[in-house]
Amino acid sequence: MKTWFAIPLWQRVIGALILGIVVGLAWGPGAESIKIIGDVFIAFIKMLVVPLIFFSLVSGVAAIGDLRKLGAVGGRAILIFVVTGQIAVWLGLLLGTLIKPGLLVDTGSIEMGSAPPPNDTTWREMILEIVPQSPVQVMADVNVLPLIVFALLIGIGILMAGKEADPLGRIFDAGSVVMQKVTMIVMELTPFGVFALMAWVAGTLGLSALQALGALVALNYLGCILIIAIMYSAMIKFLAKLPVIDFFRGIVDAIAVSYSTASSNATLPVTLRCAERNLGVSNSVASFIIALGATINMNGTAMYLGLATLFGAQIFGVDLSWVDYGMIALTATLGAIGAAGIPGAGLIMMALVFGTVGVPLETIAFVAGVDRIMDMMRTTTNVSGDAAVAVTVASMTGELDRVEMISADDV
Ligand code: ASP
Repeated sequence: MKTWFAIPLWQRVIGALILGIVVGLAWGPGAESIKIIGDVFIAFIKMLVVPLIFFSLVSGVAAIGDLRKLGAVGGRAILIFVVTGQIAVWLGLLLGTLIKPGLLVDTGSIEMGSAPPPNDTTWREMILEIVPQSPVQVMADVNVLPLIVFALLIGIGILMAGKEADPLGRIFDAGSVVMQKVTMIVMELTPFGVFALMAWVAGTLGLSALQALGALVALNYLGCILIIAIMYSAMIKFLAKLPVIDFFRGIVDAIAVSYSTASSNATLPVTLRCAERNLGVSNSVASFIIALGATINMNGTAMYLGLATLFGAQIFGVDLSWVDYGMIALTATLGAIGAAGIPGAGLIMMALVFGTVGVPLETIAFVAGVDRIMDMMRTTTNVSGDAAVAVTVASMTGELDRVEMISADDV
């Protein structure tokens, strides 16, 4: 027991990740039987999402102190989200155009996955869904976007009420601290959850699926790695002015959890903890940007939507003009913003992008079987991006405690 806790959590998590892959590959589809351990882990972590977002976002907004500063932090974050999202989509389009993965795939040899239910939500409904008509319902449904809107409004209300609302502000602060402690407890389950999930993925999908859609999977990984290694590193080095290595060391837990759960939402508590404890981002900026980013900042998803649309067009011989490329860039960005931070959300959003440029929806069924492998990397990219934006904005607005930037061993 003592020896177990003496090993830093991140080392236990990485060990579990590697062991899970090895066990899964050796065991094969039978590894599905231990997936329940991963499901329990995800259920616990999901339990944290609503109270954590709610308490930390309200207390984060209230802690910012005045409305002008809120605008400065929020405005910068949203500008970075949009600019990096566009770069990501165009990177996906560039990779798809240069390598043409759709032409490499032998369509006859691929086992079709099952297509997700068609996404028939209209734009009107999508806009209306953001309004938290019934806050309690929104919480019960773990509907993150309207929950964020509700929390932002409560936070702004507390700011506007000033002194009179101080007691309520303190309750939210205390709630936020308590939720962080609860997160610490749940985090101790990470090595077990990560082990089981990796064994399940490696055991059921195996290496054959990677061979069949190897070209697409490889490009998805390449795109995500380029985003992380070049775009985020540049952001950390030049905008946040921090050592790149320290940044990545600080988010190792979030990387491991996002890769194994394929869910930005499920990783949210971990990302928040990494940003505050390991990177020294102030609580107000971290909770505000990371909760917002987990839902709308998805550069991995945006890149993948661009790439997958070209993949489908190449398989089915659809000619695309420059106007079509522009339409893909626009709808992929909106799709990434609209995608929930849950496994497979990007797959569902493909219908939105494909429809606008006439790529057959059969492509979705075609890639569904290997989506999980790609989703894991997309999610890691999305989550790293949330942390990178939080650090960058915190640094720009003087909300970064550089001395506080401790080594990840401490966690
Ligand atoms: N699973 C991703 C996330 O949670 C979204 C996606 O499917 O691309 O960030």
